[in-house]
Amino acid sequence: MTIGLLKEPEGENRVALLPESAKALIQLQVQIIVESRAGEKAYASDKDYEAIGASIHSRAEVLQADLILGIHPPTEEEQLALKDGQVLVCLFQPLSNKKLVERFLDKKITSFSMDNVPRTTRAQAMDVLSSMATVAGYKAVLMAASHSPRFFPMFMTAAGSIIPSKVLILGAGVAGLQAIASARRLGAVVEAFDVRAAAEEEVKSLGAKFVKVEGAKDEASAGGYAVEQSEEYKAKQQALIQEHARKSNIIICTAQIPGRKAPVLITSETVEAMAPGSIIVDLAASTGGNCELTENNQIIEKHGVTIIGDSNLPGTMPTDASKMYGKNMVNFLKLIIGKEGELMLNWEDDIVQNTCVTHQGEIRSERVKNILY
Ligand code: NAD
Repeated sequence: MTIGLLKEPEGENRVALLPESAKALIQLQVQIIVESRAGEKAYASDKDYEAIGASIHSRAEVLQADLILGIHPPTEEEQLALKDGQVLVCLFQPLSNKKLVERFLDKKITSFSMDNVPRTTRAQAMDVLSSMATVAGYKAVLMAASHSPRFFPMFMTAAGSIIPSKVLILGAGVAGLQAIASARRLGAVVEAFDVRAAAEEEVKSLGAKFVKVEGAKDEASAGGYAVEQSEEYKAKQQALIQEHARKSNIIICTAQIPGRKAPVLITSETVEAMAPGSIIVDLAASTGGNCELTENNQIIEKHGVTIIGDSNLPGTMPTDASKMYGKNMVNFLKLIIGKEGELMLNWEDDIVQNTCVTHQGEIRSERVKNILY
């Protein structure tokens, strides 16, 4: 089987497989063809890929591979040119991309979206969402610190004492927990808020205070994810967040609900009530943002508060982000590649079944089927 590695579109610095991960795949008896300059923005040259046994090709040739790998999907025109039975493994957010799902159904493409990997213990080594959220949570804190006019840690200096920054983290999932740990390491005083009751213990174990709003709806059937909350809960939450936001120098927003617009937690009035010089980093920017004023991929200033809307922070750390993505990818591909390097789809395996969005003109993932249809 040939596996084709795509160069990512303009503006994306990561690559789906660094040479070290490509080398691990070659050991599975497959042939790897790499689009010329695919890894250059992640500091991997064509020569590095050739050195581990891959060959360099044009994009058109890579798009003919039996299995195509990427982070972002190929362009619309390229998708339309894919052939019946070709396999695509990338990150295409099927829950907010119905048109693309229908195209893959029509073209009988076997498509796997890595954001569909179940959040189970066995699937952890393939969980690109967790890997990328780790990078984003860490980098969000560094960005906040570099834009802030204040120190993060407390200092006792000859010029007097400096009080530590107060950081509020909204959403204590993978990115939020990483942001807590990073902000604590820099010396800030950190508090965090999440609708999931299970988050309280994790927040506290990292040395942060948990901001608690009673009455949240928590659903076991949501697979550990948050669910939409009642209007009464939202009003209580709004009042408490406003109170904590006013006292914060930094807010890092990470709250998301899969397949939906991000919940608005910071209104324009809350921003107005914050001290000038405060910073908001909104990692939910691409799904509308947790802050009402966030503009995706923009850094703006409103009421003296800098609002950084960036949903692609992993792309700013392409070496380690690509390394993590590639390792997750190899672990996943091992499930669908047989001993002779052939495609082997075991529908009894819940990871294969749930990560697969379309196969032979049918939807395989129950989650996609239930939410989209
Ligand atoms: P996510 O990116 O979907 O959301 C980030 C956080 O925002 C979540 O903690 C969510 O509860 C929170 N949130 C949503 N709406 C909110 C609101 N209105 N107010 C405040 N917070 C809100 O989440 P994620 O980081 O991908 O993690 C989701 C879940 O999956 C968590 O329970 C996590 O522990 C779990 N998880 C499990 C595994 C595994 O076992 N393999 C791996 C990663 C994550």
